[in-house]
Amino acid sequence: MGLEEKLPSGVLLTTVEKVAGYARKGSLWPATFGLACCAIEMMAVGGPRYDLARFGMEVFRASPRQADLMIVAGRVSQKMAPVLRQIYDQMANPKWVLAMGACASSGGMFNNYAIVQGVDHVVPVDVYLPGCPPRPEMLIDAILAIHDQIQDMKMGTNRKAEIRELEAAALVATPTIEMKGLLA
Ligand code: SF4
Repeated sequence: MGLEEKLPSGVLLTTVEKVAGYARKGSLWPATFGLACCAIEMMAVGGPRYDLARFGMEVFRASPRQADLMIVAGRVSQKMAPVLRQIYDQMANPKWVLAMGACASSGGMFNNYAIVQGVDHVVPVDVYLPGCPPRPEMLIDAILAIHDQIQDMKMGTNRKAEIRELEAAALVATPTIEMKGLLA
């Protein structure tokens, strides 16, 4: 669909938030950061078969200052956790985190003292991606979910109000430990 079909009269009305979201999601650069086997699938996404360049994201940045997406690809050891946090802190705002695979999301099969049981103990996570390892198509799907979040992200006072609402909703949510079964 071309621009002419979307703008038949040549006039477009929108909001600053929508334009900023559109620009941000189209200029997302991931940090070069792979921890274990999941990183091989992440590398495949950058290759010609899956072609992350379609979304302008093939440039994995070696400096966290130039990256706004951290893909945590693999298990996070206790030793690596402070390094991961330092890289996250060095990334400029706004920034997003994708927990790729069972290990990054929950510790996976490594239920032991050496592995952090979910990277959300160290950094805030925007999207969790299941699988061991997730296929490259699944990673692209998760990246598109982050794109949707970015497109709908509020700014300024709207953002502050949204954060207040999310925090209030989190405080009244049923704790996972009190849930019974998958549907409770
Ligand atoms: S989820 Fe599976 S593939 Fe990914 S890091 Fe863990 S063990 Fe490796």
